[in-house]
Amino acid sequence: MAQHTDLAALVENSPDNEWVRDAACGDLGLEKLDMFFVEAGRTLSKEVVAMCGDCPVRVECLAHAQFRELAGGYFGGVSPSKRRKLVSDVAHGSGESAAASERE
Ligand code: SF4
Repeated sequence: MAQHTDLAALVENSPDNEWVRDAACGDLGLEKLDMFFVEAGRTLSKEVVAMCGDCPVRVECLAHAQFRELAGGYFGGVSPSKRRKLVSDVAHGSGESAAASERE
């Protein structure tokens, strides 16, 4: 298997995720992607929050995380705990938009 050194190279080999080509984080090296994964109770960097907030593929990113049931990571500007709450709310008929939930 080929080694990928950045997200763009990884995407070249992931045709199912073409939306990543437009990701605001697409130019980051793979070694920087851990910025999107913080331990519970820790605060994300302002850089990550701003990057995701301005990302043109935020919705696709969030949908990817939900579809793949990714337990960790800040995807689409939504934390793992907020994603779990969204799933629970939808299951119980009290769903709201991810953006509205994250503003709480
Ligand atoms: S929303 Fe954030 S994590 Fe998702 S693709 Fe955009 S910059 Fe990357």
